[in-house]
Amino acid sequence: LTILGLESSCDDTAAAIVRQSGDKPPEILASIVHGQNELHSAFGGVVPEIAARAHAEKLDYSVEEALTTSGLTLAEIDAIAVTAGPGLIGGVLSGVMCAKGLSAGLNIPLVGVNHLAGHALTPRLTDQATYPYLMLLVSGGHCQFLIAHGPERFSRLGGTIDDAPGEAFDKTARLLGLPQPGGPSVQAEAKYGDPKAHRFPRPLLDRPGCNMSFSGLKTALLRARDAVMAEHGGLPKQARADLCAGFQAAVVDVLAEKTRRALEVYLADTPSKPLLAVAGGVAANTAIRARLETVCADHSVTFTAPPLALCTDNAAMIAYAGLERFRSGAQDDMTLSARPRWPLDKTAPALLGSGK
Ligand code: ATP
Ligand code: FE
Repeated sequence: LTILGLESSCDDTAAAIVRQSGDKPPEILASIVHGQNELHSAFGGVVPEIAARAHAEKLDYSVEEALTTSGLTLAEIDAIAVTAGPGLIGGVLSGVMCAKGLSAGLNIPLVGVNHLAGHALTPRLTDQATYPYLMLLVSGGHCQFLIAHGPERFSRLGGTIDDAPGEAFDKTARLLGLPQPGGPSVQAEAKYGDPKAHRFPRPLLDRPGCNMSFSGLKTALLRARDAVMAEHGGLPKQARADLCAGFQAAVVDVLAEKTRRALEVYLADTPSKPLLAVAGGVAANTAIRARLETVCADHSVTFTAPPLALCTDNAAMIAYAGLERFRSGAQDDMTLSARPRWPLDKTAPALLGSGK
């Protein structure tokens, strides 16, 4: 089965072709991603209207590139998968319209995909993870624990109640005059800092469950920065590194402890090949990875993090999620609509996480 996937829910226009023959591991034959950073950078954030127009312009082109890269023709595509939400409605609509056109024109099946399911199924694409596996999605916009039971069955164990960690890294960098994206620059500074120079809060660790909070950390950092600046009349290099180290250590501690709790819930299911997969841009953080690996080793759980290009927004994950959905007998028609909001566990109400 060869499937073309389209992704346009935020600021990346992507097209990819994934093939799976029988029970063999899936193969990515092409994965094209066009970012829109230069279009939005002057505005300090993604402008939905500009994003939607750019997606509409770039989608056809991206599909052509994916075909060229894979050496395939449209006639060799068996089905079209497309992100149908959640995301910026204009962009999602551009993708859904393009997919409907291709599906009708080629007379092949159309499969709508939840963008978050795309992220959550990536370990099956990269590591042939077997269900059920535990997933920590941690990015600029998301932070949640999910148990994946099947292509459309997820239970959410908890997540952030305010900011996502990536957002906190980005704000920290901004407050300390470091370049964006904040994650890599804060991580680089933290290497030279003393994580114990400042004691930042570890929110919600005293509460049961897997929920997290990162907005208070940002406020604490701002206060600590101001105190340093008042004392030194500026921000000395070492003090900045100490602030980064203290901040990162707090994020690492929170993620590690909540992961430990999520593992306990997950292991109660007695999975045959227990696995924790971490995905999202923040998964690139080496300190976070190292700690999560330790937590997993303590519980005899395999740890995996898909390659970064498949952790951030891409269409290979959408093609793959569409492929699994299609194989399970699901498919959409011309009534497929774009959904700006679409919580993952709404496809599995009976499995709603207990949050404990
Ligand atoms: P989403 O796709 O979930 O809506 P997004 O597109 O903002 O959100 P990603 O592209 O997955 O998220 O990740 C970007 C985020 O990852 C940024 O906030 C960035 O600072 C963070 N990040 C990247 N590298 C690191 C790192 N080494 N340490 C911590 N954070 C990092
Ligand atoms: Fe995403």
